[in-house]
Amino acid sequence: MKREIVKQLQRIVGKDYLTTAPEELLCYSYDGTGREFPPEAVAFPADAEEISAIMRLANAALFPVVPRGAGSGMTGGSLPVAGGVVLSLSRLNRILEIDEANQIAVVEPGVITGDLRKTVAKRGLYYPPDPASLKFCTMGGNVAECAGGPSAVKYGVTRDYVLGLEVVLPDGRIVQTGVRTAKGVVGYDLTRLFIGSEGTLGIITRITVRLIPHPGAKKTFLILCSSISQAATLVAEILTRHRPCTLEYMDRTAIRIVRDKLPFALPEGTEALLLLEVDGDAPGVGIQAAALQEFLAARSDLLAVRQADQAAEIDALWTARRAVSPAAFSLQPHKISEDVVVPRSRIPELVLFVESLAAEHDLTIFTFGHAGDGNIHVNIMLDKSQSRQVSHAEMATRALLERVIRLGGTLSGEHGIGITKAAFLPLELDAASLAVMRGIKNFFDPNNILNPGKIFPAA
Ligand SMILES: Cc1cc2nc3c(=O)[nH]c(=O)nc-3n(C[C@H](O)[C@H](O)[C@H](O)COP(=O)(O)OP(=O)(O)OC[C@H]3O[C@@H](n4cnc5c(N)ncnc54)[C@H](O)[C@@H]3O)c2cc1C
Repeated sequence: MKREIVKQLQRIVGKDYLTTAPEELLCYSYDGTGREFPPEAVAFPADAEEISAIMRLANAALFPVVPRGAGSGMTGGSLPVAGGVVLSLSRLNRILEIDEANQIAVVEPGVITGDLRKTVAKRGLYYPPDPASLKFCTMGGNVAECAGGPSAVKYGVTRDYVLGLEVVLPDGRIVQTGVRTAKGVVGYDLTRLFIGSEGTLGIITRITVRLIPHPGAKKTFLILCSSISQAATLVAEILTRHRPCTLEYMDRTAIRIVRDKLPFALPEGTEALLLLEVDGDAPGVGIQAAALQEFLAARSDLLAVRQADQAAEIDALWTARRAVSPAAFSLQPHKISEDVVVPRSRIPELVLFVESLAAEHDLTIFTFGHAGDGNIHVNIMLDKSQSRQVSHAEMATRALLERVIRLGGTLSGEHGIGITKAAFLPLELDAASLAVMRGIKNFFDPNNILNPGKIFPAA
């Protein structure tokens, strides 16, 4: 990057908030994919005005700008694949307002999701989206990816809670979208356009979210199954009769890699588990839990059903569930993570297909995730130094994604497309839809300076 541009960036954000030191650039070269693309500089702007000035400079001097939250993305969205400046949103980290009367919160994008959830809970309010990364991912990253989590089965995903945004456009203009009201239909829904746009259409600098009353009570069950098809079939049966707030699934390999974190001993032959919760007010939860116990007690084929009563047990169960993704690296040094979604009734077919793929390609492939939404994380483990494993993992990935589309599913439920899934986009989107999407990107960002190289397959 030219010295003159570095100087101009320093003038905008201040000398202390721009770095070109190689050891610091390295820290901003990675995300959850483990791939590495070093930026030429990292800027830490203080507000929307500074970001606007950076975007005007980027348009004049034509260098890429890549927004970055916590860098926990699983598809390479925050990686500077074409070099340029990484724009860290870490200084925009304030919860600006909690309006209890209207049940909304206004936050800056660098706020950690878990911190917002904890802060509003102290006022009896609830912000439901709970990605497993909630202790470190940011609200800006969640909006840009439309993150979901275990509670989506009852409460929906980030999109369902965002009322409005402040966004710096690639040309530096600052726009306010959406409303602070329960309803609003004025003009096109720009808020929804930016949600899930993976940092390619604008930089989100302020987020207004809807809150709901805190459900208060919760009961947690662990259901141990003797086969993955038993667990997968049970998911559909549970959802026709009950309304859990979470219904998570782990296969035997996922269980094995976090077994030491689980608070209960597992019976011999445990091949899959379901982590299920019901929530609401205390009497309502009691009724839901009793109905569920009755339903599960009638299933003599299940290996065991445990209810977690102690806070420590519940914490341990969630610690184990959230540890699955990072613990995968105890199996192999590399992983291809797919977060496909199928209609819930097709989950049994999907998990059995994954088992057959693993056998066919002689790879470790395991599944876990948000079974209640049909959102199954498929993890293809490999060692990239083994060329045979690489080629088989690539074949298995394509076969998986093709099967998901045939099952009436979608390529990504919450991780987005980024760089890792771009090549597969035409499996799901027709040529006309892709052309419209490229047109939208071109309208917002004709110079292709904001997060280039993401979402769209190479032309
Ligand atoms: C262990 C683990 C568990 C995970 N579990 C889940 C899960 O349960 N559910 C789920 O949905 N995801 C999950 N993820 C993926 C990841 O945490 C989410 O995608 C999260 O939303 C990313 O937030 P971030 O702050 O890390 O964003 P980053 O990774 O920094 O960025 C993600 C994308 O958002 C863009 N972006 C970031 N901030 C802004 C902004 N202010 N304006 C515009 N664009 C922006 C970036 O350019 C990039 O394209 C998990 C990841 C890990 C590592």
